[in-house]
Amino acid sequence: MNEFSQAAKPSPFGLWNETATPRPSFPELQEDFTAETAIVGGGFCGLSAALHLAESGTQPILLEAEEPGFGASGRNGGQVIAGLKLDPGEMIAKFGRERGEALHRFGAGTADLVFSLIERFQIQCEAHRDGWIQAAYAPKVLSAIERRAGELMARGENVELLDEAGMAKLTGTEFYPGGMLDRRSGMVQPFSYARGLARAAAASGAVLFGNSRVKRLVRENSHWRLETAKGSVTAKEVLLATNAYLGDLHPGLRTAMIPVASYQLATDPLPPELDRTILPSRLPVSDLMQLGVYFRRDDEGRFIIGGRGSFTERERPDLFDRIRHHARKLFPALRAIDFPIRWGGKLALTFDHLPRLVTLERGLHAAYGCNGRGVALQTLMGKLAAEQMRGVRHDDLPIASLPPARYPFYSLRLPAMILISNLRSLRRIFARD
Ligand SMILES: Cc1cc2nc3c(=O)[nH]c(=O)nc-3n(C[C@H](O)[C@H](O)[C@H](O)COP(=O)(O)OP(=O)(O)OC[C@H]3O[C@@H](n4cnc5c(N)ncnc54)[C@H](O)[C@@H]3O)c2cc1C
Repeated sequence: MNEFSQAAKPSPFGLWNETATPRPSFPELQEDFTAETAIVGGGFCGLSAALHLAESGTQPILLEAEEPGFGASGRNGGQVIAGLKLDPGEMIAKFGRERGEALHRFGAGTADLVFSLIERFQIQCEAHRDGWIQAAYAPKVLSAIERRAGELMARGENVELLDEAGMAKLTGTEFYPGGMLDRRSGMVQPFSYARGLARAAAASGAVLFGNSRVKRLVRENSHWRLETAKGSVTAKEVLLATNAYLGDLHPGLRTAMIPVASYQLATDPLPPELDRTILPSRLPVSDLMQLGVYFRRDDEGRFIIGGRGSFTERERPDLFDRIRHHARKLFPALRAIDFPIRWGGKLALTFDHLPRLVTLERGLHAAYGCNGRGVALQTLMGKLAAEQMRGVRHDDLPIASLPPARYPFYSLRLPAMILISNLRSLRRIFARD
């Protein structure tokens, strides 16, 4: 069985493959090339890096193992969420006022970049920037959301608090005691956005190859040679933009992140009576839980819901069942509705919830660890990486100057993560009841 097979429609991208803009065609690498810069991985991060490097005048080469958007970028919930997982106050406590505020500003700007690229390159990707709702699943969690909203509003960010009635009006469910409406954020059809970025990068001068998995990274004096089955690229500055899909390419990077899966389910377009009651505002929603539940509608009226997948590569049908069950708890009217499409993908976590842009060795960079917020964040991380590859330093930005996260007891990560996650689920149950 495929890692994320689907009962009804056998595409690893699930719904997004059905509704995406046409697939751009990029050839397989079949020669030996030399370039100033090269990128491994064609997700939001790699594509944004390629685009920004091309715009700065170099001609980067991007090697993608399958096709642009094949990884998490073509499979996610499409929620374009401004900001990092940590609140401004938490970042200030960790890094001091100046660097903490710089990190907050970086996070706050992530969605701006996405929507400005969509506008500038006229990317057709069902883009909407009407907001995003962060929902509190229990009264106890509301105080964390209130604190977050307060800190953001004090910095002039376009967010507001929602009470129980406000949440019910926008979401159509009475499940939530409150939440935050973040007007900086929005949503896209993620696979179309990835394909649009790929077209924009190519049009700007980047050279993209598909079906070109990098099998080996070889240091050659001051350069790196990236070897694929049929060719190679030699470059001085290389970015590994493979995130949770890294595989065995770089063992040091592999143990610097925790890959986890997230699963999603989609209905067919809802019938008119439900169309008006299930998420009537059409705003995307995420629960305030790490890797919690998130849901949205698409332009054709489907209801799409995602949640935590397994910590292993194995598909877990019971987790799909759990997400479906939760959807019906939120919206009892969905009990009569089928969820014919299901899919999943892998994302990368770090224990401190912060992404990293690191230089692993001279000329070898990596940007990873978006902690489930990569649509906006990895687009900006790609731009940041492009600047670093051109020699621009970002010493003021902790995520670009922290060392790679290291998990020395990497082999214990699975039992540890499962334990943490189960404890969180228990806490959630007690917090709600
Ligand atoms: C189911 C799911 C739902 C999510 N929902 C959201 C959401 O709603 N909002 C949000 O902000 N974030 C969400 N995320 C997170 C977000 O999708 C990711 O953080 C983001 O897409 C990561 O982008 P990336 O470019 O870093 O990596 P990826 O998109 O994973 O791309 C990595 C690429 O590298 C390629 N690759 C790997 N190894 C090699 C190699 N050796 N040679 C060549 N190419 C290689 C892969 O084929 C892949 O295309 C979700 C993630 C998942 C899985």
